[in-house]
Amino acid sequence: MKAVALLAPENVAVLDGLPEPSCGPGEVIVAVHGVGLCGSDLAVVSGRRAVPAMPWVLGHEAFGVVVTVGADVSSRRPGQRVVIEPNYPCMACGPCRSGGTAGCRDRRAAGITEPGLLAERVAVPARCTWPVPEDWDDTDVVCVEPLTVALHAVRMSGLEPGDGCLVVGAGAQGLLVCLAVRHAGGVAYVSEPHEGRAALAVEMGAHAAGTDPDERFPVVIEASGAPEAFGRALERVAPGGCVIAVGQSAVPAEISTFTLVQRRLTVRGCLIYDHPAGFAGTIATLAASDLRPGRVLRECYELADAPKAFERAADIAGKTWISLPRNEEMTS
Ligand SMILES: [Zn+2]
Ligand SMILES: [Zn+2]
Repeated sequence: MKAVALLAPENVAVLDGLPEPSCGPGEVIVAVHGVGLCGSDLAVVSGRRAVPAMPWVLGHEAFGVVVTVGADVSSRRPGQRVVIEPNYPCMACGPCRSGGTAGCRDRRAAGITEPGLLAERVAVPARCTWPVPEDWDDTDVVCVEPLTVALHAVRMSGLEPGDGCLVVGAGAQGLLVCLAVRHAGGVAYVSEPHEGRAALAVEMGAHAAGTDPDERFPVVIEASGAPEAFGRALERVAPGGCVIAVGQSAVPAEISTFTLVQRRLTVRGCLIYDHPAGFAGTIATLAASDLRPGRVLRECYELADAPKAFERAADIAGKTWISLPRNEEMTS
């Protein structure tokens, strides 16, 4: 079996001859059809985000088709097209029992704590596979996970219809946040130094934000993860407003506590989404609206070219994904 793995920081390779995944209790095997790349994958590749072992199979934004179901699984069947929710909460700890599974004390995350999903076949908990209609375009299905992050961030911000929302950073996640803001009835503004990314955000319906520091917004969503951008993001929030951090960095950011206090701002870190509400909500939204997250994709690579995809993803405008060959056999 083939998979794309990190051998050492900045060294990505396609490996062959890997053992087939085995289907444990409560699990299904998914033949993977596509995997999107995002900032956290790039953080793993660069070595900024440590992983438990090398070689390390990469990727977490995956969809495909169920080929094997565990003996005790009745909710999924071979042949079902599914998108994978790559964060597996324990459902037993305090945060999980109260519904806030993003705070799970024992959360397993594909590509971070568990081997990733950029492989021909993967074993995943059945409850973390979500059936999606056959007629949904691959490009939209591969964006379900990062769109769920974006929709969750906008929901957490308390954005009201008609509100302006400044999105700082128009990488793949920022672009999806722009779409999510518009979907919620807000007016998206974007601040992004990369010309191609800024232009793409405008194509997604965002307005280019001016540089006037007195132009302020009830909601600011920081999606760049650049520590130096955070202080500036805070300056753009209107009194009583809210800044949501989606991007992250271990490097401390400088902020003005004078601004924070005088304007009575709320700062909120927003980590992924909760299970099962997050994915359930996104899939219902896609079924009921014309939100087409696949619009943010710009480059598609074959499995053999995955190393090049990772190399280019940090520089290009728009999101990158990898399409895998579809030759799976039903095994049960
Ligand atoms: Zn991601
Ligand atoms: Zn838990």
